[in-house]
Amino acid sequence: MDDDAGLFRATFHDSPIGIAILDEVGHYRDVNRAFAHILGLEPSEVVSRNFAEFTHPDDLPRDIELLSQLARKEFPYYVTQKRYLTSTGEVAWVRITVTRIEDAVRTPSQYFIAQIEDVTEVRKAREALEQRAMYDALTGLANRALLMDRIAAGLSSHADRATTVALIFLDVDDFKMVNDSLGHEAGDHLLTILAQRIQGAVRRGDTVARIGGDEFVILLEGVRGPGDAEALASVITRAVQVPVTISDHEVVPTVSAGLAVGEPDSTAEDLLRDADTAMYSAKQSGHARLRIYDTKLREIAVSKLEIEEDLRKALREGELRVAYQPVVNLLSREAMGYEALVRWSHPLRGELLPEEFIAIAEQANLVVAIGSLVTHEACDFLARHRSFAGKVFINASPKQLGTASLAHTLEVAVSESDVAPERVCVEVGEAGMIRTSRAADSDLDSIRELGHPIILDDFGSGSGALATILDKPVSGIKLSDRFTRRLGDGATGDKMSRGIALLANELGLLAGIKGLETEAQLAIAIHHGWTIGQGFLFGHPVHEAELGLA
Ligand code: C2E
Ligand code: MG
Repeated sequence: MDDDAGLFRATFHDSPIGIAILDEVGHYRDVNRAFAHILGLEPSEVVSRNFAEFTHPDDLPRDIELLSQLARKEFPYYVTQKRYLTSTGEVAWVRITVTRIEDAVRTPSQYFIAQIEDVTEVRKAREALEQRAMYDALTGLANRALLMDRIAAGLSSHADRATTVALIFLDVDDFKMVNDSLGHEAGDHLLTILAQRIQGAVRRGDTVARIGGDEFVILLEGVRGPGDAEALASVITRAVQVPVTISDHEVVPTVSAGLAVGEPDSTAEDLLRDADTAMYSAKQSGHARLRIYDTKLREIAVSKLEIEEDLRKALREGELRVAYQPVVNLLSREAMGYEALVRWSHPLRGELLPEEFIAIAEQANLVVAIGSLVTHEACDFLARHRSFAGKVFINASPKQLGTASLAHTLEVAVSESDVAPERVCVEVGEAGMIRTSRAADSDLDSIRELGHPIILDDFGSGSGALATILDKPVSGIKLSDRFTRRLGDGATGDKMSRGIALLANELGLLAGIKGLETEAQLAIAIHHGWTIGQGFLFGHPVHEAELGLA
């Protein structure tokens, strides 16, 4: 018997699993080394102290309740996970099984035996997994799931207070350009730096999340209204706009920002959508802007959405058609070509001009389908009128260049209609030419190699026009009608028109001028050296049947 008791004591003390014997009020009667070790102590330092001294305060009420239920014999034992605070103040997670035993001889007659297994490492591994599910791997910021939880929690905790939550939706300007020209690693590097800058600019308690490639969202807690939130937003955007060197290139990052402030009845989804809408509107009005959400923006967004839906239907049901405007030799006034301009016969709203839908189509990625339709239609136009030996001009959106491969679309259209590629000119707006990626550049090269003249449309309307001529395979320009309107001013307007015409001719480029409406403008344009042109003076864009072509 004594041997058995000795064996038991040895097992108790040397067991790799912690064991503790507690009395009815939770004092340790005896503990083994493994348990003391979890607490960072020797057994003698633990014995006779109460379990409450070592238990994490958040777990204590529940532990007391469980022990008293066990004492009342509501169950024979229980298993749970709990936290101890170790001698160094760290948290140790354990899995604990507590059993009630009765001693018929001694008083008190009731004891508890606890078996305690250290699961801190398991817990840590699980937390790391949870971290991965809730946080963005690249930047360590919250991900969308965590953000949505926090917004919802923020909205409900502020529901009956004078303050509310606000969201700032940030989208990095021209991020695609960094990614395309410097590579994905450089892009990732930039995102990481921006994440740190944003995190460094917010207050404690605010949540910074990355919810998409280059989209960051900041949840601001406890704001009194748009003024507060706007001030915080400008602190953040200023922190972002510090030059940074990425792959040996100095980049000055900017962000477009949308701000939405929580209303009493907002949901997390509403708030995120509103901040996104505001960001989109900020981006439309240029780079590095901040826009505050108001209901008018929502109305615009909704009508855009309607147009987008209608446009998909229009493409399916053939509501889009092409009008042609003559492009003439200024001296002979004869049409040397026709510009193909898309029109939408909307069943309810009548004929819509491109300005009402092209921008939306670009954003909804429908512009590639529209462009393809116009390209095929314009090539067929040439095929249908074999007696006309001139050119067609089609307008290409930058979205059609690159992965969408306008070169391929042209190749197919030209071969199906059996027309010469040099008769199909591609107009790209100046703005669209500047912001091209490597893929778009190589598409432009292919288009040129196929034999299509590339025309820089709206020349002089933006910045970088001259550099574009220098860098891209351009065969001609069409002068923006902003200059045409200034013809005859005897000053800057005239000088610029003459200078640009001279430059275009000198470079052997097709020199086209747009928006000619009067005989006086025509005379001056010829005098300045413009050779081809278009405008209401020669003809409006009309249906092909009205052109009088054979
Ligand atoms: P754009 O390339 O500058 O086309 C010329 C625009 O000027 C046309 O407007 C035309 O109607 C207008 N216009 C022509 N002559 C005169 C004139 O004497 N005075 C004035 N004030 N305006 C004149 P439209 O048809 O509304 O097209 C607007 C823009 O939409 C085009 O500008 C072009 O950038 C774009 N667009 C048209 N069709 C397409 C298309 O198929 N695809 C793409 N991506 N864009 C297109
Ligand atoms: Mg054009």
